[in-house]
Amino acid sequence: MTEMTEKADYTIALAGNPNVGKSTLFNALTGLKQHTGNWTGKTVEGCRGSFCHQGYRVLAEDLPGAYSLSAFSREEALTRQSLLENHYDCAVLVLDAGLLQRSLCFALEVLSVCDRAVVCLNLADEARRKGITVDEKALQERLGVPVVQSCALKKQGLAALKDAVLAVCAGDFVCCPKRCLNGEEQQRAAQLAAACTTVTRGKKQARDRRLDRVLTSKLFGLPLMALLTAALFWLTAVGANVPSQWLAALFGVMKQNLSTFFTWCHAPKFLSGIFIDGVFTTLSWVVAVMLPPMAIFFPLFSLLEDAGLLPRIAFNLDRGFAACGAHGKQSLCMMMGLGCNACGVTGCRIIESDRARNIAVVTNNFMPCNGRLPILIALLTLYFTGAGVFGTLAAALLMAAVLTGCVGLTLLCSLLLSKIWHKDGAAGFALELPPYRVPPLGKTLVRSFLDRTLRVLGRAAAVAAPAGALIWLCANVRAGGDTVLQHCVRFLEPFGQFIGLDGAVVTALILGFPANETVLPVLLMTYTGGGVMQDFSGYAELSAILGAHGWTAATAACMIVMTVCRFPCSTACLTIKKETGSLRLTLLSMALPTALGVIICAVLSMLHKLQLFF
Ligand code: GDP
Repeated sequence: MTEMTEKADYTIALAGNPNVGKSTLFNALTGLKQHTGNWTGKTVEGCRGSFCHQGYRVLAEDLPGAYSLSAFSREEALTRQSLLENHYDCAVLVLDAGLLQRSLCFALEVLSVCDRAVVCLNLADEARRKGITVDEKALQERLGVPVVQSCALKKQGLAALKDAVLAVCAGDFVCCPKRCLNGEEQQRAAQLAAACTTVTRGKKQARDRRLDRVLTSKLFGLPLMALLTAALFWLTAVGANVPSQWLAALFGVMKQNLSTFFTWCHAPKFLSGIFIDGVFTTLSWVVAVMLPPMAIFFPLFSLLEDAGLLPRIAFNLDRGFAACGAHGKQSLCMMMGLGCNACGVTGCRIIESDRARNIAVVTNNFMPCNGRLPILIALLTLYFTGAGVFGTLAAALLMAAVLTGCVGLTLLCSLLLSKIWHKDGAAGFALELPPYRVPPLGKTLVRSFLDRTLRVLGRAAAVAAPAGALIWLCANVRAGGDTVLQHCVRFLEPFGQFIGLDGAVVTALILGFPANETVLPVLLMTYTGGGVMQDFSGYAELSAILGAHGWTAATAACMIVMTVCRFPCSTACLTIKKETGSLRLTLLSMALPTALGVIICAVLSMLHKLQLFF
């Protein structure tokens, strides 16, 4: 531990099985906003924060979830290394009070290498609902370390936990952990759980099992999940359109005021061009197009995540992945990729086998991130469905179909790669189905809006602003009579035609490398030729501009394919390089989807010319 340690009186670590509420507890203690969710594997990196108690400053580290110190996966290795090497003043072993036996196995392992610890029985409210009571005093006596109960979600039991932590750190409570012999943990955990737990009723488990029989059944599992996804997109599509127009109108007024201000200042044309028409217009596009769908999609997605539905979707898809030589957990990384591919790629760390992880990393880009989803929704609405409620319903169903296609492409490429890359003999995996939980509605909505929506938007805006300036320069700097952008478009026109698109679209796809959400503004700027990016004022105008440039349903279909199958954005590429440490894999992640997209589009375009498609 570095600099922060020097300023802290004590350092502690939060460790335990995945999904026992470590991050929620960490957030409650430190006031930070580490990602939480009802599934295994979302914390893949340690996170640090601090809190003050009784005049002492305590530095806390939230370690990735682990089932064992034997370190199967990378994040388990990180937890093991941190616990063994960092010499914490106290390890807070977070246990699920309702699943004591299982959580105790890991705790007993840690207690055999760690002298100072506090056991925190979290999820105490859920255990109560399950009819499970744990006698914490009896457990404390048997373990030889303090045991406290908590409900991190409601911030209950935190004061007692902090007191116990400080008592251990300061040496006021002398821990004498009763150690088990190596390999004896399972047996001992079972004995302890039996001795310290009373179960009065088990209605919740019975209800969970009944729900699971339907949601993960062979007959209903996949169709129900497809319906759920369609509903998610329908709500996003229906809800996003109007606020998007409001935002666009607001930015229109701001732009006028900015122009007036620049004229009043006698600012040079170049400056107002690059700032207003380049930076400001791109930014307003990004915000107007991205914010409303994200503000709806992310919170709804977080509700599904907290309710425990994501791992069930993964479970339903598991057989398909296994058949393609890939890992069931890959589907979880794909779901993270729906928000942002860079997050999806980082999430691949939950996969133990190097080979399966590389497959998941290379194919993650087939899941369209938030920068690409709005383009897909817009094109599906404009070219393949009608207006009104039924139109949006059809668009949502088509969107679910496109996503199914994305999953299909992922499976196809995974199969291909699994045939090429040799098996590495890594251990099999367990996909854990967490309990169903009623998500805390208000908290989840606010948290996901602030943590996810605004964070992704901030990142997109940070890239879009300089990209806007660069694009404006390309559209205004002339060489030999034509602008740089026009040269690019002309050069790329034959290739564009070959794949059923045109030079302007290919230019926009390439210039969208820094941020996917700039593809559409660049395209419209190229089409209108004014060197000024178009203001977003709804789908009608978009449709008019595209139509004027010969767009048909076939063009839209090819654009949808290329939006899904194109190289990842710069942030995702950098993340792939960082995660895999391999330039070869990074280049493969760019080349594979792009090549596949080009082939599909070339075939579609040929079929269209033969009048066999649209
Ligand atoms: P981690 O994987 O151990 O870091 O677990 P998280 O902190 O992400 O929490 C997993 C899930 O349990 C999330 O959906 C939390 O909202 C929920 N959760 C955490 N602590 C509690 C608690 O004390 N009670 C209840 N009911 N839910 C909790």
